[in-house]
Amino acid sequence: MEDTELVARIRTAVAARAGWIEQQLKDVVAIPSVSGNEHAVQAHMRGLLDSLGFKTSEIPVELDRLKQHPGYSRPVPGHHGGASVFGSLEGDGRNRSLLVSGHVDVVPTGPEPLWADGPFRPYVKDGWLYGRGAGDMKGGLIAALGGLMALRDLGLVPAGAFHFNTVCEEECTGNGALATVEWMKRRQLTADAMLDPEPTGETIQLAQLGVAWMQVVITGRPAHAGHKQLGANAIEAAIHVWSRLKQVEAAWNAPEKRHPAFSHDAGAIKFNLGKIEGGEWTSSVPTRCRLDVRFSFFPGVEPQAAKDEVEREVRAAVAALPVPHQVEIGFDGFHAEPCEVPAETPALATLAAVHLTMQGKEAGFRNTTATTDVRHFWLHGGVPSTCYGPVARNVHGLDECVSVESLKRVAEVYALFIARWCGLRAA
Ligand SMILES: [Zn+2]
Repeated sequence: MEDTELVARIRTAVAARAGWIEQQLKDVVAIPSVSGNEHAVQAHMRGLLDSLGFKTSEIPVELDRLKQHPGYSRPVPGHHGGASVFGSLEGDGRNRSLLVSGHVDVVPTGPEPLWADGPFRPYVKDGWLYGRGAGDMKGGLIAALGGLMALRDLGLVPAGAFHFNTVCEEECTGNGALATVEWMKRRQLTADAMLDPEPTGETIQLAQLGVAWMQVVITGRPAHAGHKQLGANAIEAAIHVWSRLKQVEAAWNAPEKRHPAFSHDAGAIKFNLGKIEGGEWTSSVPTRCRLDVRFSFFPGVEPQAAKDEVEREVRAAVAALPVPHQVEIGFDGFHAEPCEVPAETPALATLAAVHLTMQGKEAGFRNTTATTDVRHFWLHGGVPSTCYGPVARNVHGLDECVSVESLKRVAEVYALFIARWCGLRAA
């Protein structure tokens, strides 16, 4: 079939699939799946893939298998390990294969009364589908599947193998995707490209930062507030530590320290004080304070080197306090390596060309100040990988939503990418 004819037929088929995409997405968003509690949503996804004719497997995150791996992140205590779901449609062995991989875990909702409607009661309003995970990133996953289904509606299937992988715990460790990469290696299964439909706003991702989580527990000395000079205030010490970390953030963002991919971003490196808890009683000098910090670092920096530097700074800040405090530092959660995939990589170049054909304008490349699963597939699986997905708003915030029109455009791009990358054959 000629390309222009195929493009027109894909548009028609995706338009006819729009209702399916919206309903499937609502069904998935309605299943709460905060990191560590992905079992129900994964059972749903496996059922969906089974019903579509995929051969499916469950890939449990086995920490004993992964913990010596350079890409491994130690989970936070109390985190319940999950499993990834891997579905395959067999290929002819001659054409290129494609893996679509994305995460089904979502971040906590924040205070639910602040949402216009509940976070897990999906609804569409003014062209946006709302709910926690609608944008990040259940929307992209369903759109990609919608693209595959549109081809099927035309009586066509990928000629090369097509794999669809939904992972757990992307938002806290990335061990779900790492488990998939290692599972594929054990089966000598590879893919010629990996697309991750994260909400990139229909742009193609090149570089991503490294990310680490840190826990700092400061212990001071309690005293009556009326004699506070006898105590050591752990909360005030924590404020001092945090201001030191803000200085580290500024130093890492200095123009001469910036990675070329982020040279125009004066604030690419971000230290986020995500959680703080401390103190015991309003009229007592607080004994303990705990800070949970997420920080990022440029490609070219080893995660361990970044952690070591930050730890030295925290210890120096505590040592400089006028009264002695103790400090314990932990690094549970993200130990995410930074990475960069060149734009000339054939899979990325093909994607750019597909976007141009489908939308009549350049997709544009972007570098992200977050981390994604691309790092595992690219650095440890050797699979050319990128993120490309829909336009979303308020990811990790209140009233998260994804553009319904964008879901359709992304489905069209995935359909044409499958056609050009894997080839097509009659169903
Ligand atoms: Zn995401």
